[in-house]
Amino acid sequence: MKTYEFTKSIELFDRATRTIPAGIYGHESPAITVPGSFPYYAVRAEGCRYWDVDGNEFIDYMCAYGPMVIGYNHPKVEEAVRKQQALGNCLNHPAPVMVELAEYLVDLVDMADWAVFAKNGSDMTTWAVQVAREFTGRPGIIRIKGAYHGTHAWCTPGHGGLIAEDRTHVHAIEWNDLEGLRALAAEQRGEIAGLIATPYHHPAFGDSILPAEGYWKGVEALCREEGIVLIVDDVRAGFRLDLRGSHDYFGFEPDLVTFCKAIGNGYPISASVGREALKNAASKVFLTGSYWNSAVPMVAALATLEELKASDGVETMRAMGTMLMEGLTERAADHGLQVLCSGPPAIPFVRFANESNFMRQQVFCAEVTKRGAFLHPHHNWFMSAAHTEDDIKKTLDIADEAFKIVKDQFGG
Ligand code: PMP
Repeated sequence: MKTYEFTKSIELFDRATRTIPAGIYGHESPAITVPGSFPYYAVRAEGCRYWDVDGNEFIDYMCAYGPMVIGYNHPKVEEAVRKQQALGNCLNHPAPVMVELAEYLVDLVDMADWAVFAKNGSDMTTWAVQVAREFTGRPGIIRIKGAYHGTHAWCTPGHGGLIAEDRTHVHAIEWNDLEGLRALAAEQRGEIAGLIATPYHHPAFGDSILPAEGYWKGVEALCREEGIVLIVDDVRAGFRLDLRGSHDYFGFEPDLVTFCKAIGNGYPISASVGREALKNAASKVFLTGSYWNSAVPMVAALATLEELKASDGVETMRAMGTMLMEGLTERAADHGLQVLCSGPPAIPFVRFANESNFMRQQVFCAEVTKRGAFLHPHHNWFMSAAHTEDDIKKTLDIADEAFKIVKDQFGG
């Protein structure tokens, strides 16, 4: 099988470092994959495929780190976008579609009585925390250790520019530790405004961990007892596990839910939905941004959610993710290797079972990527409704070659 070169990506990145701090910053930084083994710049995308600046074609298992959910350049989304673009995008007032989208979300998500919109996941997680504080008049926030809620000072996993006071009222507990939560809530009684957590635990560089039996019901009951606002950060998993929100998939009822990634198939939009009781507090927490009312991402979101529903995209993602996870497990075993798959099939996390340092994983993902399927070496992957059985079969054939290389290099 022919392997790709990334010459133009590397040249462009070198050029970028002269005028852009770090060249490419954040989660797409080349430094956090395997330098030289992955593409750095993309030029075009279609369905579940994209092409990099060197002209290499990839079956994409990151989906723009989540936003692409029904296929790049989806005709229904692009048609709605073109129509709205011709009318106007960023205007002095919201377009009527904002009301339509809010109504759509309120119908779709059972616990939702209202909806608001922003651009990024971080906008909404921070705002939701403020709503909890406004509603309760309390300062404290409980979060889960290792969970990602965005780049803002109260929760960023980064280090630069922070001061101790940023986290003064933020308490972190372990995932799935109901007893720990009970103890903290008792110790801080009357001080905790909200608990924010992802619907299942999906830390970077780590296995995804589903909620333990009874965990969410226990959390929900405790929050009600203690008057703590229960916030689900569904930015990553939202609309990939269940169209009604991942809390419905896991069978519990939060007070506030934040969405982002999959909502607009790549157009910049995030959302929060909440219960009636929080509506007044929500109206008091200032919420705005230069582009937050733009109409184009809102029509894109409506078209995306409608298409996901009409085509049962959630089921396709589950089925394709399952085929990928099972296929990788089998092919690895053929080479005497053991891979461990975790998380829901639509958002798989795959690693080699007998290593904790990701060395095999880095070689494996780099070798697969060099042969035409983009696999991230330490972040969960994302399936889309545009992946087909043929794409998965092709990926598994590529994986076969990469497993052989891992076996030769590491011996199992
Ligand atoms: N919460 C979760 C669970 C996320 O996965 C992310 C993004 N990876 C965020 C919040 C932050 O979203 P954004 O990067 O759009 O600010």
